[in-house]
Amino acid sequence: MNTPTSHTACPDCHGLGKQNRGLSKRAKQRYQKALEVYQRFPDNPKPVKPKAHLQVCPSCSGSGLLPAPQPPKPDTTRFPHLAIIGGGIGGTALAVACLHRGIPFTLYERDTDFAARAQGYGLTLQQAHTAVKGFGIDRLEQGIVSTRHIAHTPDGTVLGEWGMRKWDTQTNATPKRTNIHIARQNLRLALLNQLSGTDAIRWGHQLNGFKQTETGIELQFDIQGNTSTAQADLLVGADGIRSSVRALLFEQEPYPLRYLDCIVILGICALSPLKNTAHELLDQKTVFQTANGNERMYMMPYDPEHIMWQFSYPLAEAEAKSLSAQGAEALKKEVQKRTDWHAPIPQIINATPAALISGYPVYDRALLTPQAFTSCGPVSLLGDAAHPMSPFKGQGANQALLDALALARRITKMCKPDTSWKQTNLRKKILTPFETEMLDRSATKVKASARAARVLHSDQVLQERDGPRGGGKQ
Ligand SMILES: Cc1cc2nc3c(=O)[nH]c(=O)nc-3n(C[C@H](O)[C@H](O)[C@H](O)COP(=O)(O)OP(=O)(O)OC[C@H]3O[C@@H](n4cnc5c(N)ncnc54)[C@H](O)[C@@H]3O)c2cc1C
Repeated sequence: MNTPTSHTACPDCHGLGKQNRGLSKRAKQRYQKALEVYQRFPDNPKPVKPKAHLQVCPSCSGSGLLPAPQPPKPDTTRFPHLAIIGGGIGGTALAVACLHRGIPFTLYERDTDFAARAQGYGLTLQQAHTAVKGFGIDRLEQGIVSTRHIAHTPDGTVLGEWGMRKWDTQTNATPKRTNIHIARQNLRLALLNQLSGTDAIRWGHQLNGFKQTETGIELQFDIQGNTSTAQADLLVGADGIRSSVRALLFEQEPYPLRYLDCIVILGICALSPLKNTAHELLDQKTVFQTANGNERMYMMPYDPEHIMWQFSYPLAEAEAKSLSAQGAEALKKEVQKRTDWHAPIPQIINATPAALISGYPVYDRALLTPQAFTSCGPVSLLGDAAHPMSPFKGQGANQALLDALALARRITKMCKPDTSWKQTNLRKKILTPFETEMLDRSATKVKASARAARVLHSDQVLQERDGPRGGGKQ
């Protein structure tokens, strides 16, 4: 027997993860009665048919997937061919979700390979188990579960402690209920591994133009100085906060990048040089932060051998750009100068190699509305391209994963078997409902992340309280 190495859409829920349980007997009777009354007295408002209840699909436990020796063959009659621009978290996740459902796709990434650029920072995946199982990933090998969060003042006074270790010492919490810390590249690799065996990834392809034609969309790429074109039926921009698809899509960008008045400096430090700094905060199960009402340090496990830190403070945009451009040594010096704080913070900063330090001004954009897409035809956006947010609530990657799954599921639902997708109005039936749900879901996260950028650099962070600062994960 072949060992299953891939996944296919669950036939019982058609990859949706949920099944229609229909209406309860009572709801049916109530509706029937209301309908009879309406038929007798048609001047009354017509009763609205209640929506059926959905239940988690018992066959796939809600993932929408079943193990299979190989993924299904792409079905070019049933589904449109997707061009996915951007092989970051959201684009790769969409490619994986398409693969499992037999939706044909090509994934275009401007980097020449997976490791072409240092992309070193860690992510916290909230409710991580649920977030990744829809992509056929049962366990994030390099993921670390934290059990304790502590907030301090710069002299080390504890302002609050929370998390499983404090509240839940009696239960054996499973990863289902927890946040997982993982290097962004490890999550990306876990997704890319699902795509091994396909020839649908085009590295070194930078999109620089597209136009709608009678037969679909013509894409134009720069491949190391050469121009090349390709065709697709549906185009999805998953190309990050400075999205080219978005810039090409909206003749006039409705919501330019909005500076959030602070800079964030990141570093990754190996634990081995810190062996003599035996400190309870370095047990790789603790997330801690230290703040003075202006500057803030946040540290979390990065992988089993490293810790990641994120230092942030308010700074004028021009100064933040200038410091960022001065490079890693200047960024490190700036953090050292500002963090003569409790152990092990100075020790960690000193031990962090400059090569693993980066720093950026923090931006988001005001919220798009579904109406902005009305005349976009078969072109859409997801992840940071659609709704960039500050990193202070740790929600950007989480939302990009949810977007990807939602779009693949919508395509599966609306493109019926034995019917050509050409009979489906892609914008009306698939993209508008997808964008409406995505923008509605992510709006609270964008707003909360912008608020956290203010709160975490204010006196509010100094309140004594056993709970997250800035109203969320961090
Ligand atoms: C410091 C920091 C900490 C964070 N912490 C968290 C966290 O804890 N939890 C969390 O959920 N999120 C976190 N985030 C946010 C998260 O990283 C992003 O929201 C997420 O990566 C967005 O995914 P994406 O696919 O939309 O974009 P990206 O991951 O940015 O990917 C975009 C891809 O598109 C490619 N691309 C760009 N232009 C083109 C083009 N023209 N043609 C082809 N390819 C192109 C890029 O090379 C890139 O690979 C953090 C972000 C930062 C900066």
